[in-house]
Amino acid sequence: MTTSSNYAELHLHLEGCLDVETLLEIQPSLDRNEVEAQLRFDDFAGFLASFKFAVMQLETPEHYRLLARRALSRLRSQGIIYVEMIHSAGICLWRKQDARAIVEALIEEGRRADVTVRWILDGVRQFGGERFLEVARLAVQYAGEDVVGLGIGGDEQGCLASELDAGFRLARAHGLKALPHAGETSSPASVWEALGFGAYRIGHGIRSVADPLLLAELVRRDVPLEICISSNLGTGVCSRLEDHPLPALLAAGVKVVLSTDDPAFFATTLAHEYALAARLGLSAEDLAQIRRNGFHYAAGAAPTP
Ligand SMILES: [Zn+2]
Repeated sequence: MTTSSNYAELHLHLEGCLDVETLLEIQPSLDRNEVEAQLRFDDFAGFLASFKFAVMQLETPEHYRLLARRALSRLRSQGIIYVEMIHSAGICLWRKQDARAIVEALIEEGRRADVTVRWILDGVRQFGGERFLEVARLAVQYAGEDVVGLGIGGDEQGCLASELDAGFRLARAHGLKALPHAGETSSPASVWEALGFGAYRIGHGIRSVADPLLLAELVRRDVPLEICISSNLGTGVCSRLEDHPLPALLAAGVKVVLSTDDPAFFATTLAHEYALAARLGLSAEDLAQIRRNGFHYAAGAAPTP
């Protein structure tokens, strides 16, 4: 990654930017050691528990505003000029927070940032289809230049794919892109399901590598995978860097972008993700193409790279 180039970051969770410092700024009464312990994990279930702990500290629109300000202020110095930030709106609705006031605070912060910010509202798979439809309804109220997509994350086996269909259909009818996480922890079947939702990109999708027909379909539909190497290592869905399927995915002709997912949890930066990709044997031209993909596959209007 060269610092003279501009980058797009397409898979970045707002709540995954909640580092210890910002968390203590938001909840000064918390004990630092306790917070650090809560944020440690060594598998996917542990990661979800840490993520939940962090999100539960965010109570008011002002908390979200502060988190967005801190997170967005770190991007420009990394060469990032365009970001699609994922907000777990499904958790806010589930907690009966003022989800609209939170989205509006985020949009406002995004417009003030020194990078171009688009938002993706994310549901939680294990909450089921009804709750996902609520997230979709919230997202369509703001569909436009700022809110560009609807996503789903969480436990991939948390609910039947058919339950998610109505939410994605509603979102797409209002011009939002379907941006599901899939094929991260489970199997190629979840990526096939995501294609059934009309996915514009797939979050992770690394399990696709086991299914040659699926790889061909991703190429045919021109659906890229958002690859987050540190995340895959941190959650243990990929045990060693040298086992990461990125080179095989590229060899199959699948388009990819590189992203950080939850940089505060995985202690990473976009530059580090590019460095890891280089260690996997990707060429300078591969990396340059991936950088261009970040703009080409943006779900919203992106600046020229
Ligand atoms: Zn993610």
